[in-house]
Amino acid sequence: MIRSAGRELIDAVIVGAGMVGAATALALARAGLKVAVIERHPVSPPQPGEPVDLRVVAIAPHAQRLLSELGVWADIAAVRACAYQRMQVVDAAGGSSLSFAAADYGWPCLGHIVENRLVAGALWRAVERESGVRLLLGDELQSFETDSAGVRVRLASGGVLGARLLVAADGVNSRVRNELLIGVDGAPYGQSGLMAHIDLERPQPGLAWQRFLPSGPLAFLPLSDGRASIVWTLPTERANALVAEPVEQFEAQLQRASAGQFGRVRLAAERAAFPLRLQIAQRFVDQRVILVGDAAHVVHPLAGQGVNLGFEDISALLASVARARAAQRAPFGDSDLLRWGRERRSEATLAARAFDGLNRLYGVAEGPLVAARALGLRVIDHLPPVKRKLAERAAGIRAGAL
Ligand SMILES: Cc1cc2nc3c(=O)[nH]c(=O)nc-3n(C[C@H](O)[C@H](O)[C@H](O)COP(=O)(O)OP(=O)(O)OC[C@H]3O[C@@H](n4cnc5c(N)ncnc54)[C@H](O)[C@@H]3O)c2cc1C
Repeated sequence: MIRSAGRELIDAVIVGAGMVGAATALALARAGLKVAVIERHPVSPPQPGEPVDLRVVAIAPHAQRLLSELGVWADIAAVRACAYQRMQVVDAAGGSSLSFAAADYGWPCLGHIVENRLVAGALWRAVERESGVRLLLGDELQSFETDSAGVRVRLASGGVLGARLLVAADGVNSRVRNELLIGVDGAPYGQSGLMAHIDLERPQPGLAWQRFLPSGPLAFLPLSDGRASIVWTLPTERANALVAEPVEQFEAQLQRASAGQFGRVRLAAERAAFPLRLQIAQRFVDQRVILVGDAAHVVHPLAGQGVNLGFEDISALLASVARARAAQRAPFGDSDLLRWGRERRSEATLAARAFDGLNRLYGVAEGPLVAARALGLRVIDHLPPVKRKLAERAAGIRAGAL
């Protein structure tokens, strides 16, 4: 039976302190559990006055709520977070559009655009202040053993940790998942998401705008510095070519792709392209190991839901801990973990399929499907109850977390 070199087992070891792993560590510690979290690449959070980082995410209301409950949202917002109150989706080939406004639902906003590094950094600072957590920065998972009682984790530094649960929050290429020989469903999209920050001639504060082109969607997301962050999905070869293109040619192509929505566009800083894939682990639970965040599920970024699904994993884990306690059971019992894994895999699969379907649907450039698609979007735009359901899903209300 697993024991940690004579020491008692702690409740959980979390591998990876990206946004999801760091939030898992903090959430479990706040629930009174003893945890350790290992991160091999510490990042420093951006400070006010520093340029906005390239990597940003749209944080949905349920994720904001989790971060507020963990006491870190105020720290994030104090540096910067840009709320958006309106969202517009435009079908370039079909000529129709769909709009959402937070005011229609009595909500303050539909979400916030925040830097990945800022979210992770704020969580780390909170974790460092927490007594129930060991934060092992600059260390790495070397190997692990697991049985029905727990896990033993060996670190690159030579340390050994014993725990009742191993949480793999180690990202898309999860080593833990690979070592457990957990296969994945899905495949690379052959598309990349080109990210850049753009100066706009006609900024539209509070608007998240996405234009579906046959080559992939182009999103303009508002930033707190008045610029926009773009996520431009393109076939990978074209995305890479655009990253290398001289600035003026890049701007001319972006100008065309955005159909002049924001007037003249100018590249503000660096550009980078990130390969996209659909990937769902075949199991989220294996004995005393669970997978969360990108280690478990990677979805197309067109709906801005990737990390939000990871935050839903955590909310569901907290609910599972609470249910176990209410029934006077220790958290992380086998049946509790299996239930958590089943529910989370089913949610993630549904979401991944929906985003995949949209990506395929809007990849069609001509023919009867384009007309049917345009009509469908127009009809939905005039059906407030359907729009409300879509907005609630995006906000995370279906997860019961809002
Ligand atoms: C172009 C693009 C746009 C996106 N836009 C959005 C959006 O708008 N909204 C949204 O919700 N999501 C978005 N996403 C998805 C989002 O970025 C990811 O879902 C999120 O970053 C995943 O976080 P994570 O913590 O699960 O994984 P990661 O951020 O990958 O973190 C994993 C961590 O584990 C560490 N690690 C790995 N292996 C080890 C090891 N052996 N030992 C120790 N540490 C280890 C790594 O150093 C890393 O810090 C987007 C993705 C892309 C590509």
